[in-house]
This record gives sequence, structure tokens and C-alpha cells, in this order.
Amino acid sequence: MNAMNQGLIRTEDLTYYYNEADRMMPLPVLRGVDLEIEQGTFTAILGHNGSGKSTLAKHFNAILLPEGGRVLVDGMDTRNEALVIDIRRRIGMVFQNPDNQIVANVVEEDVAFAPENLGFPPDEIRRRVDEALKLVGMYEFREHAPHLLSGGQKQRVAIAGVLAMRPKCIVFDEPTAMLDPQGRDDVVKIIRRLRDNGDVTVVLITHHMRETIDADRIIVMNDGQIVMDGTPKDVFKNVERLKEIGLAAPETTELLYELNKTGMDLPLDALSVEECASVIYSAFSAEVRR
Ligand code: ADP
Repeated sequence: MNAMNQGLIRTEDLTYYYNEADRMMPLPVLRGVDLEIEQGTFTAILGHNGSGKSTLAKHFNAILLPEGGRVLVDGMDTRNEALVIDIRRRIGMVFQNPDNQIVANVVEEDVAFAPENLGFPPDEIRRRVDEALKLVGMYEFREHAPHLLSGGQKQRVAIAGVLAMRPKCIVFDEPTAMLDPQGRDDVVKIIRRLRDNGDVTVVLITHHMRETIDADRIIVMNDGQIVMDGTPKDVFKNVERLKEIGLAAPETTELLYELNKTGMDLPLDALSVEECASVIYSAFSAEVRR
């Protein structure tokens, strides 16, 4: 099988412990995770706090290395030290706190950091920086000081910094968790745009179900294992199973679920507000006609 057929990221029986004491415990942080993420897809990872989402994501670009099993990126084993730079060029990470990701005192210098480290010539760096800043809507701020920007703007600069590497995949680890509603909206729009452009594979870890309803695939983690894996419609209709593992379905699904408790028989896979409204409207119209 060649690297193309293997998917961009592949974990095989991945097991991880943070320290020796954990090794003695019955439950490692990751327990035999088998996962394949295809190039060009948008995958959301859900799970309650401490279920292992970040730990899994940090294996995708060799920040963490497996204790058991292995992780392949484009067929490259992350434990091979000689390949780490190649792996990190392919898989960029955006974390929760933009302050920890910004390294320079001027926006465009910050975004230039990765391509400079990769040794590109100045005109290529300029091109990549401008392109990335335009993509996240921060080009006008290129000469500003990052510390004077809002949280959402800083996060957009951090995303531009990753984009300037032109990675094959960006892993977003709760990128909106520390942002106000406006900042969250802007970041969600950028993720959606990247997904629609189709040339970057997107992996999104989030607590906001609404951010995931247009994902190609949802992976649900519980206690270090993948417990659900499917399209948003397939995953979210299991409202009770989600509750058992400490998660809520999107509000649209919750509404339909509650209405069904009153004796209605509505499909639970109407995820968008429009679909949900239409399903309820049709049911009530049918009721009135009877
Ligand atoms: P999630 O992203 O789903 O909230 P994490 O992957 O951050 O979960 O954490 C999974 C488990 O690993 C939790 O029990 C957490 O306390 C533990 N953990 C996370 N980071 C560390 C660390 N640096 N050292 C020790 N334990 C950690």
C-alpha cells in the first residue's frame, strides 16, 4: 500500500501514558487508538474533558510519541527523529491560547517565522505571509503589534503563521475556547473557508457542537478510546449514548429529542436550524390537517 492509500494521518494501536505512575494504572490516557484521516477532509474530535483528545492530536505532529503502537504521517513514522521536520511541515497545530503561539513583536514577522525557519528566499516568504494574512483577514494589521490585538485577532494571526508553512493539515485544538463571540465567529468562518477551499485537511477539537455539524466526520473519544465514528447525522442522533459519556447533542437535535418524548416521532438527524424548523413545521402541519 502506498502513502496515498494510507490516508494522511494513521494511528495504529496507539497507546500513551504521561508518566511511569500512569503505566501502573488500569487506564492509560490513550488505549489502542486506530484511526485514519484522509487528505482533504474535515474531521471533528469530540469528548468530555480529559478523554484524551489533545493527547491524541499531539501525536499527529510528533509533539508526543507513542508508548505503544505507531503513528504515520504520509507514511512517515513519527518516532523517526530524522523525519520530524518533514512531519511538522505537513501537520500544523493551532492551540487554545493565541498568546502562547505568537513569538514576534510585529504581526507579519510572526507569520514569517515558520517559512524563515524553513529557509525560503525572501520573496517567497513575502508571498506566503501576504497570502496567509489575507486568508485570515488580517492583512491590514500586518504592521501592528500582536499584543495590542483582540484575542480573536491574535488567534487569526496564529492561524496565518501555520498557513504560511502551507501544511497539508491543520489541527485546531479548541481554537475558540478563549475567545469572545465575535472572535469565535471569525475563527469558525476561517476554518469553514479552509475546508471549502479543500486543499487543507482540517482536524477540529471543540466543545461547541454547532461548529461540527458540517464536518465530514465526527470522532467521539471517551477514556482514551474512540467510541463513535461517523457523519454528524449518524453520531448526533445517538442522544442518549452521548449523554452517557458526558456530551450533549447540538441544540437542534436536543429539541427534536425532547419533542419526541411528548409522543412525536421526529427524525433526529435534522442538524441545521433550517432543517430542524422544517421537520417541526411539517409535523405540526400534518397534525393540523388531521
Ligand atoms: P482532553 O483534550 O480530551 O481534555 P487530554 O488529552 O488533555 O484530554 O488529557 C487526557 C488525560 O491526560 C487527562 O486525564 C489529563 O489529566 C492527562 N494529562 C494531560 N496532559 C498531561 C500532562 N502533561 N501530564 C500528565 N497528565 C496529563
